[in-house]
Amino acid sequence: MRQNTLSNPNPSEREVNVAVYTMKKNIIAILNHSFKAQELSKQHRFCPPGENSWCKWQQDQASGTSSYKDDDCLPEVFLEVLRPTFMTLSETKLLERCVRGATQNQNECINSVVWVRCAKHKHHGVKVIRCGVASAGLHFHGGAASREKVMQRLSIPVGAFTRRASLIRDKK
Ligand SMILES: [Zn+2]
Repeated sequence: MRQNTLSNPNPSEREVNVAVYTMKKNIIAILNHSFKAQELSKQHRFCPPGENSWCKWQQDQASGTSSYKDDDCLPEVFLEVLRPTFMTLSETKLLERCVRGATQNQNECINSVVWVRCAKHKHHGVKVIRCGVASAGLHFHGGAASREKVMQRLSIPVGAFTRRASLIRDKK
């Protein structure tokens, strides 16, 4: 999907339309590629052709090899079950927002940083949530190493392993 995003920060309407069309085509290709069909040529008809295709069947067609295996394919009966989901995911209005390759909403992103600390499926008291939010906020703005401040305030000693792990995370 990332390959189909636009690099131009101010794309023209035509560029957006082309990118949306390409993305749509690839979503349909993935849907058909993943389900066993009577004929392989039918199953992979939307997959991009050529030696560099992500589809092994198309790669084989282009280079005369036989590396394709259909072990991972789902039985055809699931195709109609999943088709509506794929159709929803390939709606033009949704893809128009995706083709610019913008990152996730920052507020939602920090939300997920909080939920990593306080799993949603468990009950937490106010104190735990507060610490989680403080730790997430520090991590979000100042990197993983700044979470140590929360640990220090909670009188949790910061060990060498924690410190090293934070530094590694910040370097990524
Ligand atoms: Zn394919």
